[in-house]
Amino acid sequence: MYDISVPDAGHLLVITGNMMSGKTEELIARVRTLERVESIRAQAALREGVFYEPRKIGVYKHGLDVRYSDTEIASHGGQRMEARPVASAEDLLEDVVRRQCRIVACDEVQFFMEQDGNGYVIVEVLAELLRHQCHVIVSGLDKDFRGMPFGPMGDILALADERVTLTSTCVRCGAPAVLPQRLIDGRPADWNDPVVFPGAMEAYEPRCRRCHVTFYSGPARLPMARLKAAAAVDAPATVDAHDDNAPQGEGKARE
Ligand SMILES: [Zn+2]
Repeated sequence: MYDISVPDAGHLLVITGNMMSGKTEELIARVRTLERVESIRAQAALREGVFYEPRKIGVYKHGLDVRYSDTEIASHGGQRMEARPVASAEDLLEDVVRRQCRIVACDEVQFFMEQDGNGYVIVEVLAELLRHQCHVIVSGLDKDFRGMPFGPMGDILALADERVTLTSTCVRCGAPAVLPQRLIDGRPADWNDPVVFPGAMEAYEPRCRRCHVTFYSGPARLPMARLKAAAAVDAPATVDAHDDNAPQGEGKARE
């Protein structure tokens, strides 16, 4: 017989990938499965004449994420689940401890950007939960609009026992989309554009690497000449194919 008196070891599943790739949907499905597992375990224990206390499940989200609701997470596919908004990684830990949660889920974990002398606080908090045998599931965007690791996500992925990477569909060509394209007033954002662009209409859409456009107006930081020359030979004229992305009179910004 499966000895349910042995506490489960800690486990971290990270669901990651591009915007609109179904990360929240996957998180909700995993939590629903764990709810069923705990209920089945309690019934099995009852049949064996032993007591099993179902592990308490805590579902969280960052307080910044109010896209659909203050107290729920929701997937693009319409799935919803109650979630407690927390303002910081420390608040998350405090609430987990106070409620004695053994299963912890958190949506949009890339928003936990606060750092101390040891790096991202959320990474320390997740490591602490794992040391205390918590079963943890987080979801988060892995890359920002520049295609660089999003805040704490690189470290969180390194900490994971298990990783699920989802892709969405490029809105320009239908290929698997791995990057969020940032658009300001309908045009691709520059690498150095401020995070908040006052007075501008800002939007994001999923794109593949081929269709993703990032202008870099700053001084070159790496010697890219050889890669650029190779790309000019290999690649079809991407800018011509997607002319609404073409820099009009901004060509110099790409050099
Ligand atoms: Zn594409």
